[in-house]
Amino acid sequence: MSIHVLLAEDDAAIRDLLVHHLERDGFRVVVAHDGHQALRAIRAGVTIALLDIGLPGVDGFEIARTLRREGDTTALIFLTARAEEVDRIIGFELGADDYVVKPFSPREVLARVRAVARRIGTQHEAGKTLLRLGRLEIDAAAREARVDGRDIALKPREFSLLAMLAHNHGVALSRDTLIDRVWGYDFDGDARTVDVHIRRLRSKLHDEYALPACIHTVHGYGYKFAN
Ligand code: CA
Repeated sequence: MSIHVLLAEDDAAIRDLLVHHLERDGFRVVVAHDGHQALRAIRAGVTIALLDIGLPGVDGFEIARTLRREGDTTALIFLTARAEEVDRIIGFELGADDYVVKPFSPREVLARVRAVARRIGTQHEAGKTLLRLGRLEIDAAAREARVDGRDIALKPREFSLLAMLAHNHGVALSRDTLIDRVWGYDFDGDARTVDVHIRRLRSKLHDEYALPACIHTVHGYGYKFAN
């Protein structure tokens, strides 16, 4: 199983270099250029997030605080340009798993990512990242969904939408919330875009995999997962 790593870094040169090395090492890499994209990617489900502290939009510290407040326990490795920020990384108790000070060698970053991945691997085996709802199983780290153990072929947004709804089991999520969490700044459609994706998701789950209705319409508001 490959591990999904988010790389949130606004410096294109650093980003390209690290993506190259991480992918060559077998990690599946998602990139974010600013803090909003980073938050969205983490909420949609990654295993490890490499976070530059000086990110435009929402900085790395604020991202960590927001995630921990939401109860998100994604592993975080901070990238920092200033040695004096290290005190804050440790002192602020942001739940950082590690940090690397710039300038760094890709080898150094890879070593940290591998170490955190090894630590998480143990938890994977314990099934902690798996969400089981009846016959449906969602593996947020691997970004895979299964019905009766069979993989469902989902597009990335469809998976994010399903994962978002399933993790908020029983809670109605408005279309605006779903747009914000699943599409964020990339969104250029209208509220119907959500409906179209929900329709495709339902068609896959119910028609192709014969799963009983689990994504319910909340009229005039949005959707709710319940089974
Ligand atoms: Ca930066």
